[in-house]
Amino acid sequence: MRMYANFINGESIENESVSNINPSDTNDVIGNYARGNEQNVKDAVECAKHAFLLWSKSGLLDRHTVLKKTSEEIINRKEELGKLLAREEGKTLAEGVGEVTRAAQIFDFFAGEVLRLMGESIPSIRPNIHVEITREPLGVVGIITPWNFPIAIPAWKIAPALCYGNTIVFKPAELTPGCAWELVDIINRSGLPKGVLNLVMGKGSVVGQAILENENINAITFTGSIETGKLIANACAKHMRKYQLEMGGKNPLVILDDADLDKAVDCAINGAFFSTGQRCTASSRLIVTEGIYDKFIEAMLEGTKKLVIDNALKEGTHIGPVINDTQLQQDLEYIKVGREEGAKLLFGGERLNRESPGYYFQPALFTECNNNMRICREEIFGPVASVIKVKNYEEALHVANDTTFGLSSGICTSSLKYSTDFKKNSIAGMVMVNLPTAGVDFHVPFGGRKNSSLGSREQGKYASEFYTNIKTSYISH
Ligand code: NAD
Repeated sequence: MRMYANFINGESIENESVSNINPSDTNDVIGNYARGNEQNVKDAVECAKHAFLLWSKSGLLDRHTVLKKTSEEIINRKEELGKLLAREEGKTLAEGVGEVTRAAQIFDFFAGEVLRLMGESIPSIRPNIHVEITREPLGVVGIITPWNFPIAIPAWKIAPALCYGNTIVFKPAELTPGCAWELVDIINRSGLPKGVLNLVMGKGSVVGQAILENENINAITFTGSIETGKLIANACAKHMRKYQLEMGGKNPLVILDDADLDKAVDCAINGAFFSTGQRCTASSRLIVTEGIYDKFIEAMLEGTKKLVIDNALKEGTHIGPVINDTQLQQDLEYIKVGREEGAKLLFGGERLNRESPGYYFQPALFTECNNNMRICREEIFGPVASVIKVKNYEEALHVANDTTFGLSSGICTSSLKYSTDFKKNSIAGMVMVNLPTAGVDFHVPFGGRKNSSLGSREQGKYASEFYTNIKTSYISH
């Protein structure tokens, strides 16, 4: 079995290793991946600090070339990398290839951004003085990522970090090191000087914790759970360093009486169940007005029953397995909780057996829910949708906003009045009209409010707000 090492200062570093297991077929071992330690993090930070002296002053064409070449290699290998992604994460092959394509597009976007770096030149309020506003890199950035988008999330953090001249210590999720390793390998072969991008795979409690505690890390960008996000915020406050947190969601999809029924059901099924519901932007609360309720439930049930749940690599599969046994048990536990709370389990919610041994789970549809139930308040992170019946638009908006999260929200309606009002009054970072709550573009800001996000936005040109410091210079002539 191949061993995949950590990568520090341009060199492979051997450690103890852990097997990367395919959740669609637990007999399939993808490879053995290094499990790093505190010393690896110390070494990686030292190298990144040293490399910053050069990389922060590097020519824009050098940075552009690295990002462009990376994008090209990813896109040329999208089938192979998409298969690896589907194999280690469990999303379908089509979703895997789609995510890899997105990673390539992100590198391509930031290859362009390198050539669009700008400052401002402003007259001072005082005579014969001029003011310049410029952006400078931060230094060493710690990047900590989750397992559910194993190539896109690393891409949307690494690409802008490099674009703006930072160096990196990258710790991917322990469950999906395969895509992370390949991505780092591609970037490092694209002409990046050694020490600029360092990979330390391993446990959050060891490698992640060592990143939080290292005083030479200048900023941390994190995507993952709220619990870990809070640890990161505390550690960053202690070290007085910049941070950016992207966390969970409990995203509402409102369906009004005047919605196009087929479109609404498509949005709900896609948003709630695709990628096995393991998306921070998943539509886990379906808020439906009385007039369309019965028709919607009937069509939703019919659509849910048609979904094919099977091996992620098999043709025709709509929904792959859950990532691992822990997540599967969590999904099953929430089914129990929902029933105990009085919600009606209309369909699904049980473990499934397939030809290959894996963590298969039948997408679940709960009805007769109210927004105070735990299944409507806590992030389940699985294919579980809770339907809440409401009287009218006003109640729907109130229920949609009654949550501690605020990542994305959606509304299905043919009314300009209601869609306009919802865009204005929905308390979320991203609002979708007649679209699923999940599925976003790579060139515009991504992020939420309340417990979903903290710090400046990711993606697009807005990424510069996190990855740079602003300098204001005054010049007397
Ligand atoms: P997680 O918080 O368990 O892990 C995320 C990362 O943090 C992993 O790399 C993990 O090893 C690391 N980590 C764990 N403990 C740590 C510690 N003590 N110190 C430093 N690092 C530590 O989250 P997960 O289970 O990998 O991902 C699922 C969560 O991610 C869900 O809540 C989901 O909503 C969220 N998510 C959010 C977004 C978003 O953009 N808002 C996107 C994808 C996933």
